[in-house]
Amino acid sequence: IEFQPFNLHEGIDSTLIILSHRLKASPTRPIINIIKEYSDIPLVECYAGKLNQVFMNLLANAIDALEESVVNQKTTDTLTIWIRTAVTDDQKSILIEIVDNGIGISPEVQQNIFEQFFTTKPLGKGTGLGLAIAHEIIVEKHGGTLQVNSTPGQGAQFLITIPIQQVIG
Ligand code: ADP
Ligand code: MG
Repeated sequence: IEFQPFNLHEGIDSTLIILSHRLKASPTRPIINIIKEYSDIPLVECYAGKLNQVFMNLLANAIDALEESVVNQKTTDTLTIWIRTAVTDDQKSILIEIVDNGIGISPEVQQNIFEQFFTTKPLGKGTGLGLAIAHEIIVEKHGGTLQVNSTPGQGAQFLITIPIQQVIG
């Protein structure tokens, strides 16, 4: 496969459509709000299908974390996922920020989060592969970065950078 010019916003939006059934209110929890703050960003050279896999893995984790906050913390906050995009200061990459106000991630868990098969979810609910795959796609395949920040009990922030142009060779 080859790198192709890709509209990241279209990738994120189509992933949200696939996940829309999980955003709706259910008998056990209210609706999940999506707040998009999209900047004017250029197309990026990438493996488009693989980036959609990253968006899927990160957004599914955010939904899981919001559901857990209802069950565990009995939160009454509006369940929200923020998605922001921007060009980085050096103009060479796109920054994508995915933030949720779910259960959050302890420092110990944050240290292991990108390891294959690391999961805190019950058997059948988590494989522990989502973030390992996301890391492989962003860092190894695209030369980007993937970072996590969290205040446990308040939510999590995932920061992705992807070079706009791929330098080959
Ligand atoms: P899985 O979702 O199958 O458990 P992942 O690799 O996607 O595997 O995530 C690994 C672990 O990282 C999760 O089990 C969870 O503990 C933690 N995690 C990932 N994203 C979030 C998030 N947004 N909020 C809280 N915890 C998270
Ligand atoms: Mg996951």
